[in-house]
Amino acid sequence: MNEVTNTAQQDEKLIEDEFNALLSDYINSNHRQKIDIIKRAFHFANEAHKGIKRRSGEPYILHPIAVARIVCRDIGLGSTSICAALLHDVVEDTDYTEEDIENLFGKKIAQIVGGLTKISGGIFGDKASAQAENFRKLLLTMSEDIRVILIKIADRLHNMRTLGSMLPSKQYKIAGETLYIYAPLAHRLGLFAIKTELEDLSFKYEHPDSYRDISRKIQESEEDRETVFRHFAAPVASKLKALNIDFEMKARVKSVYSIYNKMQNKGIPFEEVYDLFAVRIIFSPKDYIDEKTDCWKIYSTITDVYKLHPDRIRDWVSRPKANGYQALHVTVMGPDGNWIEVQIRSAKMDDIAERGFAAHWKYKVGETDEESELDKWLKTIKEILENPEPNALDFLDTIKLNLFASEIFVFTPKGDIKTLPKDSTALDFAFSLHTNIGFQAIAAKVNHKLVPLSQPLQSGDQVEILTSRTQTPNHDWLKSVNTAKAKTKLIAYMKRDKKNKIQKGEAALTEFLAQSNIVISPIVLDKIITHFCLKKKEDLFYKIGVEEIAVDDNLKKYLKEKSENVILKYLKMPFGKKDASVPADKIITTPEPAEKINRKETYVLREINGRNNYSLAACCKPIPGDDVLGYINDNETVVVHKRSCPLATKLKSSFGPRIISAKWAEHNENSFAATIYIKGIDTVGVLKQITRVITDNLEVNIRSLHIDTNDGIFEGKIGLFVHDVVEVESLCAQLKQIKEVKIANRISE
Ligand code: MN
Repeated sequence: MNEVTNTAQQDEKLIEDEFNALLSDYINSNHRQKIDIIKRAFHFANEAHKGIKRRSGEPYILHPIAVARIVCRDIGLGSTSICAALLHDVVEDTDYTEEDIENLFGKKIAQIVGGLTKISGGIFGDKASAQAENFRKLLLTMSEDIRVILIKIADRLHNMRTLGSMLPSKQYKIAGETLYIYAPLAHRLGLFAIKTELEDLSFKYEHPDSYRDISRKIQESEEDRETVFRHFAAPVASKLKALNIDFEMKARVKSVYSIYNKMQNKGIPFEEVYDLFAVRIIFSPKDYIDEKTDCWKIYSTITDVYKLHPDRIRDWVSRPKANGYQALHVTVMGPDGNWIEVQIRSAKMDDIAERGFAAHWKYKVGETDEESELDKWLKTIKEILENPEPNALDFLDTIKLNLFASEIFVFTPKGDIKTLPKDSTALDFAFSLHTNIGFQAIAAKVNHKLVPLSQPLQSGDQVEILTSRTQTPNHDWLKSVNTAKAKTKLIAYMKRDKKNKIQKGEAALTEFLAQSNIVISPIVLDKIITHFCLKKKEDLFYKIGVEEIAVDDNLKKYLKEKSENVILKYLKMPFGKKDASVPADKIITTPEPAEKINRKETYVLREINGRNNYSLAACCKPIPGDDVLGYINDNETVVVHKRSCPLATKLKSSFGPRIISAKWAEHNENSFAATIYIKGIDTVGVLKQITRVITDNLEVNIRSLHIDTNDGIFEGKIGLFVHDVVEVESLCAQLKQIKEVKIANRISE
């Protein structure tokens, strides 16, 4: 108690000084000067909190003033926000109500104070469900007026700065919450300086020893850094001066928290963190139109002096980050043999980088398109809030992911970082590297695991694209991409490709008809088009071009006989058809109403008028050549099961009379789905060999290919369309001939 020795007079002096500092911050800002209302808000809050002290012994009002200063100076907000900051604890802590505030200061300020009051409780309650509810409230008020969250962040920053006077048990909770929620929020809103300070302060309370340790080492190494910086800066500075560029150059040390993270992630000691500091060059362009050119001029000057690290150029000038960050980053080899990152920014870019989007607004008067990214994000948050996850913790995670959303960072195998929009897939990544890599992609490895190209990527993934020169895109790829670049490239390709296929098909048909001595005429063409249930001749040519329709003897026969019923035979199974997993009791194909079934005789499985007289059981997927039996279902359809199928055994025991003996007809032109299980040793090129074996078997079509690798072993399934068992077995035998393939067997799923 006796430390609190401030007299009332001293307190008043302190309060006045602080408030005057706030006023002078405000007067120096670019905002319209509404000093009166700020003074009124201050006097009102000062009266309301009169006589109340914080745990530190300070008068309470110093806290709202400090928050208002952060709001004004560090975030760049105007009088409405400053007033709301001054009043932010009045409704929570005194007898005044939101209505009182509204009567005295108007609706807007009252609303913001109301929003702040609603979220005044901490996020981290004792129960996860309460956390989620509090967080929901916070985001809801935020999506109503973004200033609520900005002031809340300022409030949190001041509380973190003064956290030392809190009870240790509370310190831990508040620090954790700050790191978990507020720092990411600040980051998402582009408040870089505040984000860094929040992280460092939280870290200080969560890991006091590490914090002390790293801070000490930063201090101890300061002299060395100074020397390195001086050596680096001198030649660059004189060249820039010669170019008549108005600039400031300084060394920026990495934050304690980010050094700690780097040490943890890379498992290295402090001494091995090579990018402890970055050089920042902030210039004032003569004209902001030349801003970008000036960045590159400075870049060019630096790289004239020092050797460039080729993988480390980041151009956020041409394409700013979603939170508005703009700068040109480049890493060069400094004179003392260290890699040094240089950040080139205009004064405006620097302001935006440090103070976030509110500063951004200042420069964007009249233009609205720049805010859309933030608006989009807020809309997403609103949507999530409207359909909350049933599980509270999932909900928290969803939102938290969303804080970083709208862009993700992924790594190339060499460790190069790539920024992609959220929801990007491996295929999008391939296109972001190079259009041809996109076109020739066959699969991807995400974090060393083989995945399909449609695999969605997460921030932090390391992605490698496997390509093949013989690969060509197909129409389904459009479903696997989400970036504008990949989409436009694919659509352009499809258009070109379709044109080619149509030409190819037309040529094939013309040649075929000529060879068959059929005179090509609109009538003949029409006949073929209706025959295949198509609309235009382009469609017909295209289907011939992609070999979905075969021009063969059957077609010739049809054209000569004009028979109507053999259409389906010409239609090969479509390539790349998805293997939808069918419940075990479902059947794959629906037959024509069956012929009369004689249960005493062996039923011959065959085609009648182009339709099968049977259905295939999805559980065991029999194909011609398998030992099978038939089960007559309620629709009087014969469902074919393998004799070895467990379900067939069950059916046999329960529905004995419905089981009939069945066998395959001699010749079968239909394709059947079959799956091969394959396992072996993962080496370079083995996948290519496997695909080659399959594609060399012309009767066989691949419908799906999924291969995983783990610890040098690959394992996977190949889905195929085949005509009978012989084809599958011969394929398995051929696959086994590949040295690395140890197992290749047909399986039921
Ligand atoms: Mn407060």
